[in-house]
Amino acid sequence: ARAVVQHHLAQALEQAIAGGELVNHYQPKVDMATGAVVGVEALVRWQHPQWGMVYPDQFIPLAESHQLIDPLTHAVLAEAVRQAAVWHAAGWALQVAVNVSMDNLGALDFPDQVAQRMFDAGLAAHSLVLEVTESRLMQDPRASLDTLTRLRLKRIGLSIDDFGTGHSSLAQLRDIPFDELKLDRSFVHGAAHDPALTAIVEGTLAIARQLGIKTVAEGVEDQADWDFMRARGCDVAQGYFMGRPMPAEALPGWLAQWEVRRAGLTVAPTAGLQFADSRPQVVHVQHF
Ligand code: C2E
Ligand code: CA
Ligand code: CA
Repeated sequence: ARAVVQHHLAQALEQAIAGGELVNHYQPKVDMATGAVVGVEALVRWQHPQWGMVYPDQFIPLAESHQLIDPLTHAVLAEAVRQAAVWHAAGWALQVAVNVSMDNLGALDFPDQVAQRMFDAGLAAHSLVLEVTESRLMQDPRASLDTLTRLRLKRIGLSIDDFGTGHSSLAQLRDIPFDELKLDRSFVHGAAHDPALTAIVEGTLAIARQLGIKTVAEGVEDQADWDFMRARGCDVAQGYFMGRPMPAEALPGWLAQWEVRRAGLTVAPTAGLQFADSRPQVVHVQHF
C-alpha cells in the first residue's frame, strides 16, 4: 500500500514541477562582522492547491527516489537565477545559494548547464553557490567528485552543507575545494550554554580557518546564538534571529528593517578584530 501511495505522490510531484507549483523562498545570509547582507539561500516549497504549503523534507526524498530530482533542481535553479538577475539589476549584488542533491552531480553535463544559465542571465558564475549535502550513500562517488571539480573550475561557488552531521565530513574537505562550510543548526542553536557543542563549533571553525574556507552558521535563532558565533569569528550567519525564509517579494521590506537592526548587533568587536586590538593599546591613552 505504501508503494502505491508513494507512486501517486511522485506523479503529483512530477506534475507540480512541470506546472509551476514549486516556489522558492529566500533566507538571508548576513556577514557577522559588519551585518551586511551577503546573499540568500533558495529553499523550495510546494504550493499545493489543496494541501497548502508543503515543506521540502516532505518531498525531496521522494524526488530523489523517483528520478525527479533533476527536473526539481533545474526548476529551483531557473527561478533562483532569474530572481538573482532581478536583484542585481536593482542594485542588490546578492549571492544566491541553491541546494543540490548528490544525485544531480551524477549528470556530467550539470556544470555546463549551470554555467550556461548564469551566462544567459548576465551574472558572474561566483554569484551562485551550490550547497551540497551527502544525503545518502552515493551511487558513484567518482562521478560526483568529477562534477564538483568542474563546477569549481567554472568558478561556481561550492558550499558543504550540514557539516558535522555525519552526512558531510572531513574527508570531503580533503577531496573537494569547497569555498564555504555550513555548520549544521544542531550544533549552533544553544551552543553558548553547552560545553560539548562549544567544543564542536570551535573545532570546526578552527579547521575551516586553517583551510581558508568561509564559515556559515545555520540556525542562529536568538541573540545568544548570534553573540556566541560572532565572538568566535564565524563569518556568516543564517537563521530565524535575522529572518525566516520568505517569498522574494518580502525581501525588500526585510532589508529595510534589517538596516535598522544591524547597527545594534555589530557594536562589540568580533574575534578577528579583538585579535587586532590585542596589540599595544595606544588608542586608549587618549581617554585618560
Ligand atoms: P538546509 O539546506 O539545511 O536548509 C536549512 C533549513 O533550516 C530550512 O528548512 C530552513 O527553513 C531552516 N531554518 C533556517 N533558519 C532556521 C533557524 O533559525 N532555526 C531552525 N530550527 N530552522 C531554521 P526547510 O526550508 O524546511 O528545508 C529543509 C531542507 O530541505 C534543507 O535543509 C535542504 O536540505 C532541503 N532543501 C530545501 N530546498 C531544496 C532544494 O531546492 N533542493 C534540494 N535538493 N533540497 C532542498
Ligand atoms: Ca542548505
Ligand atoms: Ca542543515
